[in-house]
Amino acid sequence: MIQQTLVLIKPDGLQKSLTGNILTRLSETRLDIVAAKVVRVSRELAEKHYCHLKDKPFFEDLIRYICGEFHKRKVMAMVYYGENAIEKVRKLAGATNPEEAEAVSIRGAYGRITTTGVYENVIHCSNNEKEAEREIKLWFNPEEIIVDIYPTKVVKREIEQRVWA
Ligand code: UDP
Ligand code: MG
Repeated sequence: MIQQTLVLIKPDGLQKSLTGNILTRLSETRLDIVAAKVVRVSRELAEKHYCHLKDKPFFEDLIRYICGEFHKRKVMAMVYYGENAIEKVRKLAGATNPEEAEAVSIRGAYGRITTTGVYENVIHCSNNEKEAEREIKLWFNPEEIIVDIYPTKVVKREIEQRVWA
């Protein structure tokens, strides 16, 4: 089954200079990278991304973590595309809790649990197709992705836009 999945290198991954390592590990999957950008994550984007966890005791720290308050204020966002993309990336990433993740997985190798209990696990990847669609549409506009993965429509809008001076 051809799928797409959202992958984020979280602020701790960028701070620890793991971008190259993580991209190399992801290339083991032979999936196609079809979108990529560096993002300064707003609180609004963070809260939408993790909306399913808003009742958890660690939610506030999680939002601060993904916004980069404990590290560099940036995240690298990517879409990977191909056969069983979701499962392949989840397997490579390892379990959510870095202490439980296989030692050779990305999270097992590079993640840690902070003293306040947040899992700094260096990478995000979508859980299932429904979540992947929600997350990809939240993080990317259609024209930022080089393949057509979800239906689009054209609308006319008068918007203020920053352009090169
Ligand atoms: N998280 C945490 N403590 C927990 C569960 C989750 O700090 O007990 C953080 C962790 O960074 C995780 C993120 O919240 O990656 C999102 O949680 P989710 O259950 O969606 O796990 P994931 O899909 O990232 O494996
Ligand atoms: Mg999740």
